[in-house]
Amino acid sequence: MGLAVPAATAPFTLHLRCDNCMRESTRDIRLPVGEGIPRDADELIESAFLGDLKFNCRPCGSVIAQLVGIEGGYVYGY
Ligand SMILES: [Zn+2]
Repeated sequence: MGLAVPAATAPFTLHLRCDNCMRESTRDIRLPVGEGIPRDADELIESAFLGDLKFNCRPCGSVIAQLVGIEGGYVYGY
C-alpha cells in the first residue's frame, strides 16, 4: 500500500457525433487537477468545461455536435 499519487491531469475521451454528417469522432481532453475539477463523466457533464469546447467537423465543417458518450475520469474503489 502506498500513497496515491494524483495524476497531473484528468483524462476524458468524449465521443461526439456531428449533427450534420453524423460522423462520430472522439476527442481526448485533459483537465487540470484541483478544486472543483470534475473527476468523472457525470461531474464533467455538469461542469462548465464542456461548454468551452469547440467542435469543428473536419469532413463537413459543421460546428454542431452531439455528445454521445464519455469515457475516462477517475475510478474509485479498485
Ligand atoms: Zn460533419
